[in-house]
Amino acid sequence: MEQKNIVVIGAGVAGLTTALLLSKNQQYKIVVAAKHMPGDYDIEYASPWAGANYMPVSIRGTRAAEWDRNTWGPLQDLAANYPEAGIHFQECEIHSRAKDVGSATADWFAELLSPNPWFKDVVPNFRQVPSSQLSPGIDQATSFTSVCINTAIYLPWLVSQCLKAGVIFKRAVFSHISEAAIPSIHHPNRVDLVVNCTGLGASRLGGVEDKSVVPARGQIVLVRNDAKKMMDISGTDDGDDEACYVMTRAAGGGTVLGGCYQKGNWESQPDPNLAVRIMERANKLCPALTGGRGIEHLDVIRHGVGLRPVREGGTRVEKEKVFGFFVVHNYGAGGAGYQSSYGCAEAAEQNKARVVVRTK
Ligand code: FAD
Repeated sequence: MEQKNIVVIGAGVAGLTTALLLSKNQQYKIVVAAKHMPGDYDIEYASPWAGANYMPVSIRGTRAAEWDRNTWGPLQDLAANYPEAGIHFQECEIHSRAKDVGSATADWFAELLSPNPWFKDVVPNFRQVPSSQLSPGIDQATSFTSVCINTAIYLPWLVSQCLKAGVIFKRAVFSHISEAAIPSIHHPNRVDLVVNCTGLGASRLGGVEDKSVVPARGQIVLVRNDAKKMMDISGTDDGDDEACYVMTRAAGGGTVLGGCYQKGNWESQPDPNLAVRIMERANKLCPALTGGRGIEHLDVIRHGVGLRPVREGGTRVEKEKVFGFFVVHNYGAGGAGYQSSYGCAEAAEQNKARVVVRTK
C-alpha cells in the first residue's frame, strides 16, 4: 500500500481531532505542524481558553447542526468510558429572559434558547424547567445533560492519542500555506495533502488570507468554586456583547465564569472592570458558587482572554487546489470548536478521501 504524506497545520482542537481521525488509516503518514501546542497559553491559540461544553447554537437543518449532532456521540463516549480524556457529564440549564429577545446574544443563542431545539432528542434528559422553579426575572428555562471538557487535560490527551497512532508533532510558523507542502521541511518525500486548521490564523496565512474570519473576544474568570451544574442565560443588563455562563470542568479543572462576545476585538489583556461584572453576574445566576455570599468569596485561579475564530458563513470545511497542491480546510468554528470537533473532522476526512484518490 502506497504511503500518503499529510501535513496538518494547527494543533488546536480542530487540528488535533482531524489528525486523530486521519491517523486511523495506516496508509497516512501525518505530521502536525503548528506555532502553538497544548501547554501554551497565547492569544493566537483559542483552544485552551474554551469552557468547554456542548451547548449547540447551530440552526436546525444547517451543516453546522449536522456537525454538532455528529460530535455528541464521541464526546458522550469519552465522558462515559475514558476518564483520562478529562470530560465529564454535567447538567446544563439554559435560562431565558423575555427582555433579551432581539439582542445580539439572544439572536446568536436562538436555537439554544428554544423550548424545542433540534438537539432535544440528541442530548439526554432534555426538559422544560417548571415555571414554579424559575428564579425571579427568568421567563423560561430548559435543562439537559451535557458534558464539560477540561481543556488542560483533553488537548494533551488528543496529542497522546495521535502519538500512539504514529503522528509526528513539529513546531513551525508558516507565512504561506505552500510552505507546508515543501517536502524537505516536514516530510522528506512528497506531501500529498495539507490540512489547514489554523483557526483565526487563516485570516493572515498567505494563500488563504480569509478576511471573513474575525475574532470574537471572550474573557473568562477561572475559579476554584464548584457550580455543581452548568448555567447560561439569554443576555445581561451590561450591554449587547456581554454574556453570562458558568461551567465546572472535569477532574479539578476549576469553574469557568464567562463572559463576552466582542466581535472584531483583538485585545489580549483582561479588562478588570469586565472581570468584576462577569463575577457579579455569574454569582447572581448561580448563588451555589459562593453559598449565596458576595464575589469576594470567589477563589480566583486566573483571568483569561481567548479569541473565538468566527467566520462569516460558518466553519469552512472543504477542499481546494492551491498553487498546484491539495488543501483541505477546517477552520473558523467560532464559539463551537469543541462541540463541532468530531463532525467537522469527519467532514474534513471525507474531503481528504476524495483528494487522495485524485492525486494517485
Ligand atoms: P486554535 O485553537 O486557535 O488553533 C489554531 C492552531 O493553528 C494553533 O496551533 C496555531 O498555532 C496554529 N496556527 C495558526 N496559524 C499558523 C501559522 N501561520 N503557522 C503555524 N501554525 C499556525 N467551543 C465549544 O465548543 N464549547 C465551548 O464551551 C467554548 N467556549 C469557549 C470560550 C471561550 C472564552 C473561547 C475563547 C472559545 C470557546 N469555544 C468553545 C470556542 C473554541 O475554543 C474554538 O472554536 C476552538 O478552540 C478553535 O479551535 P481551532 O483548532 O480552530 O483554533
